[in-house]
Amino acid sequence: MTQNFRATIVLTVLTVVAWLACLGFADSFEKESTCSASEVEQSSHQTFAEWTRFDFSASKMGVPVRLSFYASNESIAQKAADAVFAHFDKLNAILSDYDPESEIIAVCRKSSETNDYVALSPDLFRVLAFARTCTEKTDGAFDITVSPVVKLWRRSRSFRELPPPEYLEKARQLVGNDRWELQADPPAVRTLAPGVRFDVGGVAKGIALDDALEILASFGITSALLDAGGDLRIGDPPPGSDGWRVEFATLTPDDSERPVRVFANVGIACSGDTNRYVEINGVRYSHIIDPRTGNPLTEHVVVAVSAPCAADADALASAICVLGETEGKKILARFPGACLIDFLR
Ligand code: AMP
Ligand code: MG
Repeated sequence: MTQNFRATIVLTVLTVVAWLACLGFADSFEKESTCSASEVEQSSHQTFAEWTRFDFSASKMGVPVRLSFYASNESIAQKAADAVFAHFDKLNAILSDYDPESEIIAVCRKSSETNDYVALSPDLFRVLAFARTCTEKTDGAFDITVSPVVKLWRRSRSFRELPPPEYLEKARQLVGNDRWELQADPPAVRTLAPGVRFDVGGVAKGIALDDALEILASFGITSALLDAGGDLRIGDPPPGSDGWRVEFATLTPDDSERPVRVFANVGIACSGDTNRYVEINGVRYSHIIDPRTGNPLTEHVVVAVSAPCAADADALASAICVLGETEGKKILARFPGACLIDFLR
């Protein structure tokens, strides 16, 4: 399917993105595949300007994932998309905190039982190492050990009732980088209190998107715009252009006033409580937790951040929601190349 490269994305506040002109994509990508050398070679006979735009979409990690990129032919495009979606599935099996069999849940459970280090897969090690660094760089505003608190508030969203205070208090005790240790060689993790769990939902999509761009590059594809539930990883511009057009919605979306910006080689993430919150007794409780207090945010906020990679943008957007605009801007300096695109209250 050929579309003008200027097909625009709408960054709806929070759950970013409606792609204009991306209909009718294949929606089932099940097997892993690799690109053969001859196919990549064949692509070199065409100039980049002659490459075609391809679009694919599938539901992964609980969100719609959309891939738009330029490739020399449909066979390579399909194989590249298959490989990307297979990688999302692989990461989901490792990182999901909804799946009791995921590696991230299993290692915490085992470490609680044995009171010892538990071996990690390379993927889980790098995700935990990245998350731990983010906690340090955000002064604790981004912290994956919020998991037990998040779970209590998820239940609250379902039943529209506040979590029992004694449960909340127990969950709060499990939050903090000092509740777990990470060992690099061999890769292993140890939790330091029974019940410590990790929730990498604040950064998993960003990490998966960065991986996805690398996977596409292994197929010779570098001009790409990748979207996971509103978080974006943007590669090289489409042929003959300066970049991919991203349209930002405002808090009260008005088609005529959406600012459009052009991006290349960047990650963009949005966080906030536009869609995920529960209102109880007139108070609006966000799905984002302030790890320093163990309480959900209660002020409506939406943050959009850009950074050289989607993982940094993802972690930062969540952290800046917690920190607020002034403190948030201070920690941006610790993430080289990161910018605050929008902070809306
Ligand atoms: P995001 O949409 O990227 O801001 O991620 C939000 C998700 O991250 C939530 O649904 C929780 O699963 C998790 N989370 C909530 N608060 C935090 C926090 N302070 N630090 C890290 N992850 C969080
Ligand atoms: Mg995030």
